Amino acid sequence: MSENHFATDCLHAGYIPKSGEPRNIPIIQSTTFRYESGEAMGALFDLEAEGYFYSRIQNPTSDCVAARIAKLQGGTAAMLLSSGQAANFFAVFNICSAGDHVVSSASIYGGTYNLLAVTMKRMGVECTFVDPDCTEEELNAAFRPNTKLVFGETIANPALTVLDIEKFAKAAHGHGVPLIVDNTFATPWGCKAFDFGADIVTHSTTKYMDGHAAALGGAIVDGGKFDWNAHKDKFPGLTTPDESYHGVVYTERFGLEGAYITKAVVQLMRDFGATPAPINSWLLGMGLETLPLRMEQHCANALAIAQMLQKHPKAAWVNYPGLPDSKYAALVKKQMPHGTCGVVSFGVKGGRSAAEKFMAGLKVASIATHVADAKTCVLHPASTTHRQMNDQELIAAGVSADLIRLSVGIEDVRDLLADVENALAEV
Ligand SMILES: *Cc1c(COP(=O)(O)O)cnc(C)c1O
Repeated sequence: MSENHFATDCLHAGYIPKSGEPRNIPIIQSTTFRYESGEAMGALFDLEAEGYFYSRIQNPTSDCVAARIAKLQGGTAAMLLSSGQAANFFAVFNICSAGDHVVSSASIYGGTYNLLAVTMKRMGVECTFVDPDCTEEELNAAFRPNTKLVFGETIANPALTVLDIEKFAKAAHGHGVPLIVDNTFATPWGCKAFDFGADIVTHSTTKYMDGHAAALGGAIVDGGKFDWNAHKDKFPGLTTPDESYHGVVYTERFGLEGAYITKAVVQLMRDFGATPAPINSWLLGMGLETLPLRMEQHCANALAIAQMLQKHPKAAWVNYPGLPDSKYAALVKKQMPHGTCGVVSFGVKGGRSAAEKFMAGLKVASIATHVADAKTCVLHPASTTHRQMNDQELIAAGVSADLIRLSVGIEDVRDLLADVENALAEV
């Protein structure tokens, strides 16, 4: 088949029905699959034949959608998981064990920060956090002999910092380890992270990829280029026999294109079971059909709101990576030529109480602890997610008392502009 463009792949990649088959990806809502003989099924358990036997490990609906995401992100293999948290945990744990070390950007999603700083530490994996805007020297100084990977977010939630993927990839590869990037906010539409040297890409599909706040989900995509064999001693889980599968060596049996994802599916999904429901995978596949249309609208609306706020006397500051005068403008132009995301943060003059008044005045935007779906939603961390902190503690956490996070949806921009202006008028 000739290569199609991105928008076409959003509709067709991963599932091409044969004559008389359903036009939409079928929802295979079945835990198990029947076989004619025990022998046929035994071959599946030995990884000698391909096929489905139990939906905890693989399910045809989820696999169609995973194949679509692999195509959209430009990778060689992908898997779906029940949440973005599960995706980041599997992506890291697939190549890290007790005694290993990770280097991560400090500017990442709070859940991932906890995962690395607290929970994986309890499992014996240590993490050194670095400022995403650090120098190459500072970045290189964070590595240790037992470092197994580098982690960052292409556009960080909620700080909206933009990762210099080439800088992080260069440092990772210089130390013989892969770069994993969480591409949730930019999506495969916004950022072709593999083109800039990322090796593994993760997503919380809960956000723009599903797009309708309907289903939690996660995905891991392998770019298929990292040479695990060149650093055999660092990645024994991929390059030496797996006793739980009669001694299969993943890099030998599945090649560089398939080793990492196959191991994560047959070993981690088997043992941890963070499996998406087929209906959730189907909802994700449906959401992906309109991803480019939605992202263009999210970005256009967010830019209009950010530019209105820049001129507004009651806005103290505005942060949106898509602004032409963003400090990341050059990086954005290189890494995200089509657009960034729909999330804008800004400060309301008058601090905490002014921000609370602003929130109360909104009519179209809903107050929700969510981001990145079709409907505009807004969060004031100081009075919700971070409400136990005083103003000093908030500043230390990088969240000022006046900070409002607006996740700009795809409503008519005139209604959104009016909503924000009216609410600011009441402050
Ligand atoms: C939301 C989010 C996650 C966690 O995803 P869930 O689907 O909520 O588990 C991870 N990374 C980023 C960047 C996110 O925004």
